[in-house]
Amino acid sequence: MAYRVTLIPGDGIGPEVTRAMTTVLEATGVDLEWIRVEAGVEVIEKYGTPLPPQVLESIRETRVAIKGPIGTPVGTGFRSVNVAIRKELDLYANLRPAKSLPGIKSPFQDIDLVVVRENTEDLYAGIEFERGTPEAAHAREEMMRLSGKFIREGSAIGIKPISEFGSRRIVKFAFEYARQNGRKKVTAVHKANIMKFTDGLFLQVAREVAQEYPDIEFEDRIVDNMCMQLMQKPQLYDVLVLTNLYGDIISDLCAGMIGGLGVAPGANIGDGIAVFEAIHGSAPKYAGQNKVNPSALILSGAMMLRYLGEREAAARVEAAVQSVIAEGKYVTYDLAQGEPVGTQEMAEAIAARVQEMAPPQDPIPIES
Ligand code: NAD
Repeated sequence: MAYRVTLIPGDGIGPEVTRAMTTVLEATGVDLEWIRVEAGVEVIEKYGTPLPPQVLESIRETRVAIKGPIGTPVGTGFRSVNVAIRKELDLYANLRPAKSLPGIKSPFQDIDLVVVRENTEDLYAGIEFERGTPEAAHAREEMMRLSGKFIREGSAIGIKPISEFGSRRIVKFAFEYARQNGRKKVTAVHKANIMKFTDGLFLQVAREVAQEYPDIEFEDRIVDNMCMQLMQKPQLYDVLVLTNLYGDIISDLCAGMIGGLGVAPGANIGDGIAVFEAIHGSAPKYAGQNKVNPSALILSGAMMLRYLGEREAAARVEAAVQSVIAEGKYVTYDLAQGEPVGTQEMAEAIAARVQEMAPPQDPIPIES
């Protein structure tokens, strides 16, 4: 029976990389039925919202989706569709592996990190009060009264909620992931020296959860030190678990270390439900040019195949991406040493390699 997968092409470069991804996944022979739904800037006129209700309905029904990037229109009052999908479906874990691929030029070699980012809380909760509004004035007064601290007049105010529940489930997710994927160490990243109650709670819970996993090493790092450590000694680290904002920033840093956003896959996972997407955004300046690298979404597709239990097909896709990149002949502008090929041409080269490969090859697994 076919796997029913919700497919959201997105906007900007989304439709191009989505087409490239389906080309490759279909070459595996795994029976996939795409349930195509529209979301993003381009559907606002048609539906009055960038996230029409049928999108969430479809994902709730199929339990698995893969999406192209979706831009967040600035100044329209619409909040990010990507954040809304994660929040509405309670996809609390954002999994972002960063692994060096042979053939990609980078000052960093042999990177093998997994970033586990909390997806539902923190400064991403969207609780903000705009400067000059009665709500901001009221929030300011209340905050000053409750905290005894002064807040400058005319301030905008944002709230950073971190719960014990949210911290516990993301740290547990990181440890379970480490255990299931043969990883040795989990590092909790925070700024608890300054944010004693919010990051402090996250760290306290992380220490408690670590006690339940004596087989996995645990340590913590302050986020600014973590950035420096990653530049100097990335090989010391394995699985990193972070609250939402630090996770977003550190995962882009890790993506940069393995050669950029064009090759960095990701997944948003909840209990029995998952949405796969590349880390990169909709890069509107490249939209419609058949130019950008499709590897990130193709590798996200491999993570999805593994999530569906199709481990051999997932390994073949990863091996094919690695092989095409290492060969360097059919790669996009961001990786090309000579003449680049287009998005779809790179995807077709990968798809052909998937078909040629006698399963299973010996890939560098990008776990999910
Ligand atoms: P971006 O990731 O879209 O692009 C930044 C730059 O990275 C591009 O200009 C390009 O040089 C490079 N890049 C990105 N994807 C690439 C690829 N596949 N191949 C080669 N190079 C690639 O980031 P941005 O410009 O900050 O954001 C553009 C829009 O995307 C914004 O509206 C933002 O809100 C949205 N966004 C969406 C998601 C998502 O859908 N999950 C994630 C991040 C940003």
